[in-house]
Amino acid sequence: MRDSGVKELNLGTMRSAKSAQLIMKGYSLDEQGKKVLTFKPEMDTRDGAFVVSRALPIERRATIVPQESDGSIMSSMTWAENPDVILIDELQFFTIPQIEKLAEISLTYDVDIFTYGLMLSYNGKMFEPIKRALECGFKMKTIDMSCDHCNNDATHHTLYIDGMLQIDGEAINVENTKDKTQVYESVCYSCFQRAIDVYEMNKIDHTNKK
Ligand SMILES: [Zn+2]
Repeated sequence: MRDSGVKELNLGTMRSAKSAQLIMKGYSLDEQGKKVLTFKPEMDTRDGAFVVSRALPIERRATIVPQESDGSIMSSMTWAENPDVILIDELQFFTIPQIEKLAEISLTYDVDIFTYGLMLSYNGKMFEPIKRALECGFKMKTIDMSCDHCNNDATHHTLYIDGMLQIDGEAINVENTKDKTQVYESVCYSCFQRAIDVYEMNKIDHTNKK
């Protein structure tokens, strides 16, 4: 049996320039004359059928994978176009069946797959599709960035809505830049826990004052 191609999972926090890395990777592959397919999830609708990064002047056209589909658009396009490389943005917003479809593609076709995404949601839990990708043999690489508050590497996210820390709720919350009251931070574990401690303390204060 032949070796399957590279399956890479590049994980970084918000504003760690993940999409910029995808765009640069795609650019150099294009320059080498390699055939590349780029996909993004339907849930990330901010930039339409493009991967966009605030860090770069160029953008990259991408095929949107519909949320309700099993991801067979990825296998049918791979079959039809025989790419050397598949690039995937915002992997955390794909579904479990779509992740499994990607794993199947890696076994069926001679293609390298480079994916980019977030590991942890603002509730401190790993995104299930990311977990499934690791279970399916994707090799984790990290895109390092400093914590917004100290010099540690950022690993976690905090979400503030109208200044209030959000600790429960939907794991998936697409950043909406139009909504100015919604603020995400990329933080280290220690700053993440400190934010939760402050939240809990304020809650107790509030209860005592009643
Ligand atoms: Zn920190």
